[in-house]
Amino acid sequence: MQVYKFGGASTAVPQRMEALAAIIADAPSRLVVVVSAIGKTTNALENIVNTAITDVTAALALADNLLQWHTEYAAILLTGEHRTEALQQIGEIGKELLAAVREKHSSDYNCFYDGVVCFGELLATSIFTKMLLQKGLQAVEIDARTLIATDGNFRDASILWEQTERTITELLTKQLLHGQIVVTQGFIGSAPNGAPVTLGREGSDYTAAILASSLGAEAVTIWKDVAGFLNADPKKFADTRKIDAVSFAEVIEMAFYGAQIIHPKTIKPLQNRNIPLHVKCFLDKTLPGTVITASVPDAVYPPMIVLKENQLLLKITTKDFSFIAEDNLVKIYSVFHQLKCKINIGQNAAISMFACIDYEKEKAAAVVSALQKDYAIEAVGGVSLLTIRHFDAAAVAALTEHKKILLRQETPLTLQMVVENARV
Ligand code: ASP
Ligand code: MG
Repeated sequence: MQVYKFGGASTAVPQRMEALAAIIADAPSRLVVVVSAIGKTTNALENIVNTAITDVTAALALADNLLQWHTEYAAILLTGEHRTEALQQIGEIGKELLAAVREKHSSDYNCFYDGVVCFGELLATSIFTKMLLQKGLQAVEIDARTLIATDGNFRDASILWEQTERTITELLTKQLLHGQIVVTQGFIGSAPNGAPVTLGREGSDYTAAILASSLGAEAVTIWKDVAGFLNADPKKFADTRKIDAVSFAEVIEMAFYGAQIIHPKTIKPLQNRNIPLHVKCFLDKTLPGTVITASVPDAVYPPMIVLKENQLLLKITTKDFSFIAEDNLVKIYSVFHQLKCKINIGQNAAISMFACIDYEKEKAAAVVSALQKDYAIEAVGGVSLLTIRHFDAAAVAALTEHKKILLRQETPLTLQMVVENARV
């Protein structure tokens, strides 16, 4: 059996969702389908959560709009009994969503967040399953909250593997053997106390990997709006190249440097069981896509580019001319650690340390004010962190032409630079 995952872009409009039926019907084996929230629904739900903190009435109005939007979407896509059933389900899910917004807004923020945000996926699978049934496919929906058992770390829950594997095998094997296409939600699960949790933004990829590893799947396919895994983000760089094969290790590296291609937790369960991960294009299923597997020789990669924009470069200098050695590094790093501020690249000189961080106004201000007690701080905003794996002279020349480089760090495989105006 295989696992297919469809993200929000693949269902953004009803016509797109409908076109996915052909991809599913063509699957070479039994199938579990993981679906995430439609379009930008998760962002809309986050906005509802944040609005509810100060204004529940406004949040309820936003939730009503979102439900109305899903109702219209389903009404365009579905007819007859499928439409009736979907609209009824949306109504029921909607009541639960409104209750979650109304009742839980005073509890712990992260728990409240998950209790509201999980409804995006629940609405999506309800419509998706009806669409497949309407197309004559034998689909059955199974609630991921009954399959994915996690701890109570809301918004970034960790999987309770034994329980999860047992439940997945028990609940899905029979259905799959009967030739049913199992549809379930990505991104969500449930805490030991039964409350809904989420696995972190973009976590549906991870759900697909959990299901695949628990069921010993032949492969996972993530269907995207691009031709496969590209060597750079096509929204930021021209002349990107599609890569035919990538290793698990390379994907982990790219994710570490900030590439937002696949949720980083996705790789480990697949690597453990040696399950290949395909990235394919839902707009043209005949394109070969990319396969991510255990062994791909490094030599085949073109330069792989990751650009993190909106960075702040801090220069932290000792006030007493003491060297930046272990004692100062411990002090500096613990400030970043305590304020949960990740250093994307760090480099030290005699009496200064450079740290490049994501620019988040309040967090940056807190870090600077904590460091200022012992150090003199200079900050340069509006810079980008450019990482080139498998770099060569031509790529570096093309990417740095007319750019001011503020910091540079190099290992045999990876070149990182903090630059001004990085896009080309
Ligand atoms: N819907 C969730 C999100 O947008 C999960 C996902 O898309 O993977 O973050
Ligand atoms: Mg998404």
